[in-house]
Amino acid sequence: MVTQEHYGYNKLMANKYEEKRDFSRTPEPPPRQQQGGSGPLVFTVQKHSARRLHCDFRLEVDGVLKSWAVPAGPSADSRVRRLAVMVEDHPLDYASFDGLIPEGEYGGGQVIVWDRGTYSPDEGGELFFDDRERTQEQMRNGLAEGKISVFLRGQKLKGSWTLVKTKRGPQDWLLIKHRDEYAQSERDILDDGRSVISGLSIEDLKAGKTPEA
Ligand code: MN
Repeated sequence: MVTQEHYGYNKLMANKYEEKRDFSRTPEPPPRQQQGGSGPLVFTVQKHSARRLHCDFRLEVDGVLKSWAVPAGPSADSRVRRLAVMVEDHPLDYASFDGLIPEGEYGGGQVIVWDRGTYSPDEGGELFFDDRERTQEQMRNGLAEGKISVFLRGQKLKGSWTLVKTKRGPQDWLLIKHRDEYAQSERDILDDGRSVISGLSIEDLKAGKTPEA
């Protein structure tokens, strides 16, 4: 079981979130660790047009969003492995952040919530969406071991996915779709580039469209 070190690590990663950002300038949510939620753990995938367009894959664990930047975005094709670089923990509020980070600020550019939903670890095929204690313990162990398997119930991403740490770099993982009924190779899931919150795409935001307009 991973506890003490995990929380120390967590705090360190959350501090990085704060250090990188000026909250008087960015509309991104300020850092805070939220405990005591109820119901299944959440995941979110944001599409982020910063210096480079990428996706950010985030899983709720212990009151924060464990986060990976996925340069090429997720693929539902089980033969495809996508590099996922672990980045700093983000606050839970970030899961619904959809909008603009000002030019010149860290990660400046457009962000949309491309997908979101709930997840359960599914090691061994067993799902336990409603047992937060067990899901989070399993996630702590998976993070420490460098191997995570989760079942996603999103609007776009569904079924079983794995994140596996590689030796390529200290923060490098691979995001891979497991072979199951939700795997698909005929269609690129990234073709639908709209926010599940506003319905707007990155291109819409660049063209100055706003959710209210
Ligand atoms: Mn990003």
